[in-house]
Amino acid sequence: MNTALITGVSGQDGAYLAAHLLARGWRVVGTRRPGAEASGLWRLRELGIAEHASFALHDVDLTDLDACRALLARERPAQVFHLAAQSRVAQALRDPYGSARSNAFATLQLLEAVRRETPKAHFVFASSAELFGNAPAPQNEATPFAPANPYAVAKYFAHATTQNYRAVHGLASSCAILFNHESPLRDADFVTRKIAAAAVRLARGGAAPLTLGNLDAQRDFGYAPEYVAALATLAERAEGDDFVFATGVATSIRAFATLAFAAAGIAVTWHGRGTEEWAQDAQGRRVIAVDPALFRPLDAALLVGDARKARAVLGFAPATDVAGLTAKLIDAERRRAG
Ligand code: NAP
Repeated sequence: MNTALITGVSGQDGAYLAAHLLARGWRVVGTRRPGAEASGLWRLRELGIAEHASFALHDVDLTDLDACRALLARERPAQVFHLAAQSRVAQALRDPYGSARSNAFATLQLLEAVRRETPKAHFVFASSAELFGNAPAPQNEATPFAPANPYAVAKYFAHATTQNYRAVHGLASSCAILFNHESPLRDADFVTRKIAAAAVRLARGGAAPLTLGNLDAQRDFGYAPEYVAALATLAERAEGDDFVFATGVATSIRAFATLAFAAAGIAVTWHGRGTEEWAQDAQGRRVIAVDPALFRPLDAALLVGDARKARAVLGFAPATDVAGLTAKLIDAERRRAG
């Protein structure tokens, strides 16, 4: 039985990827941070992974080279998916050093451990569309990076390091340049799940309006299980490479909220402009407002990916469009609300 190592296995992508690989007969070893809350394992429980006979979980500090080496020497994975990250831009803005430690230095240590212990393993790094910042859209593998926040800067270091280990040490190390991919397994504070939860709450008579930041920001929203399946396909390749994973469709936060509210049964109309913009429902209730505190100091206006390379080489063809995605998020929030 082949073994795959997934760092950050408790996160959205880690949980879906573990489920994907276990269903295909892999043994999956996951890591999480020492001292991480047990409650953080809710996704693994929800997907039935936590108790799976072919799943093992280890607490590992990925900035500790010896700990990474010991784990690899013991488990000898054929594939390493490095998904662990402090994945919130807002948190990186508050704690840029923490972002560099978790997102940049941990990746370097893990790559060095792979080089020394399992140099034949395929290493997949979860890179990010955030590296593009305000680079011209649509962005692909040849688009120059222009990171606009500390999260993106840390990921930039990790991305370049992953490429460097491929070029210098001959590792099969790949960068998956991931555009937004969402699911009901997002943490509650991510904007898509925040919108879906508020839409369901307001549809059930809740009073407090949803507050959002920059409604004009446009993102490329995909469905997470389709993206992790592509990561598994990427790791099957003998050589490392870089791929953009995206749907190619840009949706503003305003349009995403409109779709999600419609899926929850609330038709919204928009009024005002800028920080004074708001949305009302058919009864005239104010259901969405803008909070200037939620704006980023420097925001990417338009992130939309050109994933033609992934389509041609890996057969990546995401099937869920943004209306399908919002419908799935609303269904999940309705189930959660009971
Ligand atoms: P996620 O749900 O936030 O999961 C990331 C996991 O990393 C967490 O569950 C956490 O697990 C671990 N982690 C390690 N260090 C951390 C730290 N300092 N603070 C918080 N958590 C830390 O993220 P995801 O959506 O699955 O994303 C997977 C990877 O893809 C990440 O590297 C992310 O940056 C990247 N990515 C995601 C998207 C997207 O749209 N989802 C887009 C571009 C890139 P423990 O607490 O158990 O250790």
